[in-house]
Amino acid sequence: MAKQLPYATIAEIFRRFEAVEPHPKGELEHVNAFTLVVAVALSAQATDKGVNKATRGLFAVADTPAKMLALGEAGVTEHIKTIGLYRNKAKNVIKLSQRLIDTFDGVVPTSRAALESLPGVGRKTANVVLNMWYRHPAQAVDTHIFRLGNRAGIAPGKDVVAVERAIEDHVPVEFQHHAHHWMILHGRYICTARKPRCGDCLISDLCAFEEKTIDETV
Ligand code: SF4
Repeated sequence: MAKQLPYATIAEIFRRFEAVEPHPKGELEHVNAFTLVVAVALSAQATDKGVNKATRGLFAVADTPAKMLALGEAGVTEHIKTIGLYRNKAKNVIKLSQRLIDTFDGVVPTSRAALESLPGVGRKTANVVLNMWYRHPAQAVDTHIFRLGNRAGIAPGKDVVAVERAIEDHVPVEFQHHAHHWMILHGRYICTARKPRCGDCLISDLCAFEEKTIDETV
């Protein structure tokens, strides 16, 4: 785990992210808050690409909790069976649709606790929904953000909640809303797990990672 970078360095890192991509977007396809919740829940241990492929057909026939219940567990399973853990996920999609109707009048709630009360929705999913749909500066820490935060010293922490707190504590507020997407995209495509592409990295001069691979990648 790298040491926490100082304020001025963190601010410069996010200025650079913003200059390259002023309006970063998530890659999970959705048409409303409900389909975003479902897409994020389905994305656990699956790629966004794989989820999008499955949900295009699913959301064409079921983009509300009521339509999802009408489709039923077997129908959902049929659409998502290319995604890992699909049986369990299909069960949860039906259960969360039922709970949305029973407890929230069919509307996706806007608090983290209420979101987390939905079957199959954990803290990360709740934070993605708060960030992407409700524009709240929530930090959903996935494997890419956890790795980048620790390696570069942007937000070191021994678990995902510690990294989430470090982002909230150390990233200047004007960058908080988009921090999630900038970090996820940088972690996914540049600061990759096995061999980070340090030679292509726009923050390599600021990054605290001691084993940078610049010589190997240029
Ligand atoms: S310099 Fe390398 S380790 Fe540091 S953020 Fe960039 S890709 Fe990751």
